[in-house]
Order: sequence, then C-alpha cells, then structure tokens
Amino acid sequence: MAEINIRGISKVYDGDVLAVDQVDLEIADQELLVLVGPSGCGKSTLLRMVAGLEEATEGSIEIGGRDVTHLPPKARDIAMVFQNYALYPHMSVRRNIGYPLRLAKVAKPELERRVGEVAALLQLDEVLDRRPSQLSGGQRQRVAMGRALIREPQAFLMDEPLSNLDAKLRVEMRAEIARLQRDLGVTTLYVTHDQVEAMTMGTRVAVLDKGRLQQIDTPQRIYDAPVNLFVATFIGSPAMNLFPARVARDDAGGFVLDLGTQRLPVDPAVLAAEPVFADNLAQRVDRRVVVGIRPEALDDAGLEPAVPGDRVIEATVDLVESLGAELVVHVALVGASSAESAAASVSDSAAASATGSASASATGSVSMSDLASATDSAAASAIGSASASVSDSASVSVSGPASAARAPSISADGVARRAVARLSTRSRLGPGDAVKLAVNPAGLHIFDPDSGIALRFAASTPEN
Ligand code: ADP
Repeated sequence: MAEINIRGISKVYDGDVLAVDQVDLEIADQELLVLVGPSGCGKSTLLRMVAGLEEATEGSIEIGGRDVTHLPPKARDIAMVFQNYALYPHMSVRRNIGYPLRLAKVAKPELERRVGEVAALLQLDEVLDRRPSQLSGGQRQRVAMGRALIREPQAFLMDEPLSNLDAKLRVEMRAEIARLQRDLGVTTLYVTHDQVEAMTMGTRVAVLDKGRLQQIDTPQRIYDAPVNLFVATFIGSPAMNLFPARVARDDAGGFVLDLGTQRLPVDPAVLAAEPVFADNLAQRVDRRVVVGIRPEALDDAGLEPAVPGDRVIEATVDLVESLGAELVVHVALVGASSAESAAASVSDSAAASATGSASASATGSVSMSDLASATDSAAASAIGSASASVSDSASVSVSGPASAARAPSISADGVARRAVARLSTRSRLGPGDAVKLAVNPAGLHIFDPDSGIALRFAASTPEN
C-alpha cells in the first residue's frame, strides 16, 4: 500500500527528444489512475521512469514516501504487467505464478500457500497444472497478473496490458482488472492509448499529449468539462463536433455564437453559474472561437416540438449508421461554407493576406456580407480570399486558399461543415433528408482557437 508522487519529471532522449515534459502526478494510496494519450505522447516513458527502467532527466519520484528516483527497479517494490506478458511456456501455471518467490528463495510451504491464495483470487485454481499454451487469452493474462501479485508489491504498473486480446475479452478483462484492483487495494498506474478503457477503468484519468499533462480528473469531469481542444476531441467517440464561430451580443445583452449563416445562443443560466466563462466570452465579442458540441448534445428537433427555434441548427443527412440502440447520423450543416473555414484560418497569415475573389453561387443561404461586416478586417480579408461553390444544400464544396487552412488546432475544411449526431432510433432519417438538430444548451463548449483552452477555464485575454 503506497501512494506514488511524481514531481516535475522530464525525459529527454538523445539530447533533443523531449518525451516527457515537467509532469506532476499524484496517485493516491489504493487508487487506479489511468494515463491515456495518443501513441508517442510519452506514456510508456513516464511509466518506465516510475519503474526505474528509464532514468529521469529531471524531477523526482516517491513511492510510499520513499524517494526512488535513483533506485534500480528491483529496489522500488513495484510490479509491472506489460502487453507482452511473456509467460514461461515450459512451466505450469503453478510454477509461472510462483516463479518470483522461487527466485527470492521463499520456503516451499510458504510459496505453496501464496500460490494457492493468488490462484483462488484469480480463479485459476482449476488450471494450476496446465501450461500457458493450454489456456485462453484471458487466463494467460490472469497468470501474468498472478505472477506480479504474488510479490505483494506496493504498486502495480501496467502498460497496455490488454492490447493483445480480442475485443470481447478486452471488455471482460478491463472489468476484471478494475474489480481485482479494488479488491486488492494496490495502488496502480495503468497506461493505455484507448480512451474507452481509460474512461471505464480509472478512478481518475490523466490525459497526456506531447509529453505534457493536459488534464487530470474523474472520467466524468474530463468528459463534461475538457480543459482544451485536445482533451475535448481525444475523449469521446464519436468525437466532439467542432465549428469555427464568432462571438456576438444579442438584443437582450446575452451572447450568441455566429456559425456563419446560423446562430446559437449561449445559455444565460450556464454563464450565470460560471462567471469566468462569462468574462472570457465578453472579452471575445466579435472575435473567433471554436464551438464544440458532443454528438449526444444534438437531438432530432422533429421529435421534440417544444425546442425553441433559436436552439436549432439545420443540416442535411449524409449517412445514417444504425447501432441498434441508437443512430449515428452524419450531417452537413446547411449554409456552413467557406466563411467558416476562413474564420478558422484567420491566424494563418498566408490565408489572411491572400487575395482572391469570393464567389458564392448558392441555392442555399451563404451570406458572406453578413459575416464580413460583423468581423474585423483580418477575418474579412480571409473571407475575401475564399471561394465557395455551393451547388445545392446537400453538397457543399469549398476551395481556395482558406480551405487549406493551417489553423493551429482544427482543420477547418472538415470540421466546419460536417457533424455527427447520436439520435434516438425513433428518428426516421435517410441520406439527403433535411434535419433540424436541437442543441442542448448545457452541451456547448467554447474554445480559444489559438491556445485551444476552453473559455470556461481560460484566464488569458485574447491577443489584439
Ligand atoms: P507512448 O508510450 O505514449 O506511445 P513513448 O513514451 O513510447 O510514447 O514515446 C514518447 C516519445 O519518445 C516518442 O516520440 C518516441 O519516439 C520517443 N522515444 C521513446 N523511446 C525512445 C528512445 N529509447 N530513444 C529515443 N526516443 C525515444
């Protein structure tokens, strides 16, 4: 039983690869903390530094109040479970599990007692005399866990332990590991690239990107209140929809988000509850932001006649995927054109200064002048450089410099016009149908397009 304290830890490989950058992490006694992030973000490096398999360039690591930063792995009293759990093929399950104790020259009666205990815990008592090749994938995984457990370590370190298993077994095993970890109460640091695994297993989840800790919180808080665009889009499947937009005032002194030809109000109740959010929004009137809406925050307004008209966005259905319990509906927003792509690329000076002609021939309702007049000159010139061709409401194509936006966090040509909604199977929608999507007012996320930080958290003011 021990807490793990990681302070200011960094790792630089070969003098210039910054794999882990100043990470602080506290894992409470008996906690299962899941470290999640895309491939190459530094997860394994961080775990290996805790294990002592990799020397930290900077920072310190304590396990159970003891500074282990410079201790060899053996002296750290931890057990690791890897994805390649390499059991000894010629040994029985009994001998595989007991191996660490035999190495430590533990007396036979004590060894047998502990193997028996661990095998009972892992429900391996029936297969103790089998070889690994005679076991299922899940049983092999449990033997590997047993071999780690039998040493009664202070902490478990698990590096993608389920990635070799098939999908069904993975679901079973992740529940089993989480249950075992709770029963045993062993402090555990668990590394995965799979956000579903992270969400379902962790007491808390730490999200890592490019070696830096982005957010650490309960799975639900991370889902409900991602601190930045990276976390917002990494956690959740299908991913959060992102739309470039502009902040404007409405007649009643509230805020609306201008998505081009469509507008969405920001719920005053949300702003009243979050003064930082309201302040940050007030500082960004007439400026661009990125709006995030999770697929389940969109409903088929046709099924909910009571939804106020201003909470609705109009779209055309591209594709309907039926998952049995729900529909995943891919749509193209009506009227979402190059204006939005351009708005997203304002920070890209090449796009902003490029000259060109705006040509919009639309049967839909692309209104360049509306947006241009409401924007600052940089945005207006970017919009001017875009050329949109809107042939019909079902297919919107954007070309020109603005569509090749090199905006920092989002690719404008992809996120601006498309969205995914998770709808009830009561929706009777098919490709080409017009749909009105009701936006749940509590489900609007707004981000600074340059820093990516969520406005409910951002303390900074926008650049002029
Ligand atoms: P993850 O586990 O999240 O996939 P890693 O911790 O394995 O990421 O790697 C983080 C970064 O460090 C990557 O850019 C990777 O290429 C680099 N890296 C990892 N190990 C080494 C090494 N031994 N030498 C040089 N660079 C490495």
